[in-house]
Amino acid sequence: MNILVLNCGSSSVKFQIIATDLDRIAQNTDERLARGAVERVGGEAIIMLHAEGGAAQRSTAPLRDTRAAVDLIIRWACSESSGIADVRSVADIHAVGHRVVHGGERFTHSVLISDEVLSGIEDCIDLAPLHNPANIKGIVAAREVFGAWLPQAAVFDTAFHQTLPEQVYLYALPYQLYRRHRIRRYGFHGTSHRYVAYRYRQLRGITREETNVITLHLGNGCSAAAIRAGNSVDTSMGLTPLEGLVMGTRSGDIDPAIVDFIAAKEGLSAQEVESLLNKQSGLLGISGLTNDMRDLLDEARDNNDRRARLAIEIFCYRARKYIGSYLAAMGGADAVIFTGGIGENSAEVRARVCEGLEWMGLELDAGRNTAHAGGREGVISRDGARLAAYVIPTDEELLIARDTVRCVRGVTQRY
Ligand code: ADP
Repeated sequence: MNILVLNCGSSSVKFQIIATDLDRIAQNTDERLARGAVERVGGEAIIMLHAEGGAAQRSTAPLRDTRAAVDLIIRWACSESSGIADVRSVADIHAVGHRVVHGGERFTHSVLISDEVLSGIEDCIDLAPLHNPANIKGIVAAREVFGAWLPQAAVFDTAFHQTLPEQVYLYALPYQLYRRHRIRRYGFHGTSHRYVAYRYRQLRGITREETNVITLHLGNGCSAAAIRAGNSVDTSMGLTPLEGLVMGTRSGDIDPAIVDFIAAKEGLSAQEVESLLNKQSGLLGISGLTNDMRDLLDEARDNNDRRARLAIEIFCYRARKYIGSYLAAMGGADAVIFTGGIGENSAEVRARVCEGLEWMGLELDAGRNTAHAGGREGVISRDGARLAAYVIPTDEELLIARDTVRCVRGVTQRY
């Protein structure tokens, strides 16, 4: 089956076309046929389309909305000039898989999209007012472009974390607030944490039940997950993706009283403070330079910039603290797995996160660590380390495509 994977944001549509089916999943022979992104939808859009084996095509065009972007992607994919051998018409796309950010407590697995599911995703808009509406637009656009008969699946960022126990997901707030408004820890990046845990057990040749790891997704957004016997038992993001690790522009954990304090001192509304915590904090806020870890590392090395160094230090310290707390929470783990743009590429950040953890058995092999960059997966700890470390590049799109196949074929998903 050729699966179109869509990740629709408020002004962007990212996509991949992946050939997969139940046999290919079992044999790990799924094939990426194309990928690309349309950014700045709603104005003069920037378009990148890339068929596997060909050159990336870049262009701009005015695109009014998500529907226009999806239409453009499909027209390109089905055109001769795209060079995608197996896609000649819309009939060669057999299903669509959507990344959906928030599934609340209702969606514990990926599902085929029906009207009822769509209204369930709408019900979660309260919890993800920026993301879910964009995801819904993508679903509606695909329905319009392909027709309502084409199977579509929703794969939720939150679903993997629905195994969190009650004492982990409840905040110490008045219980009625949970009852009334479902205020609790949901966690995000679930598809990424689930994927790297799955790859880890493949690499190790172990079962899901034997999988006890801490996964660190360090990208623009960052989160950690504690995975015991294959299940997510704790994660750092909360009701929203703001909680937890230091991120590119998000603060992560702070004293909640700071919100009111900033509002009073700076004369800002609660909404403005929330925006400050989401968009002007984290690496960008501390350094005053950039949210880009690569540039910060350069700045710290080349110019010894004090605040760039500080931003990196605070980032790594917070990640290290989470490793320690999750080891305590889960009663030990077998490995720490790094993924995401920073986790996959920066040996320096990985080394600094693990600094001083030798006493708990986490000993990196410097040679292996520096050898792992640019999508190379494998172990980066010393042989015999009690707590191993791995780099595993994430592949959320692959998991979305596979879940879509499983939904269409009616096969139970293994989380
Ligand atoms: P997103 O969360 O938007 O998917 P990514 O996972 O691509 O983002 O991660 C982006 C982050 O990865 C940026 O901070 C970028 O600087 C960082 N990054 C990418 N390559 C490197 C590298 N070689 N060294 C350090 N950081 C890197």
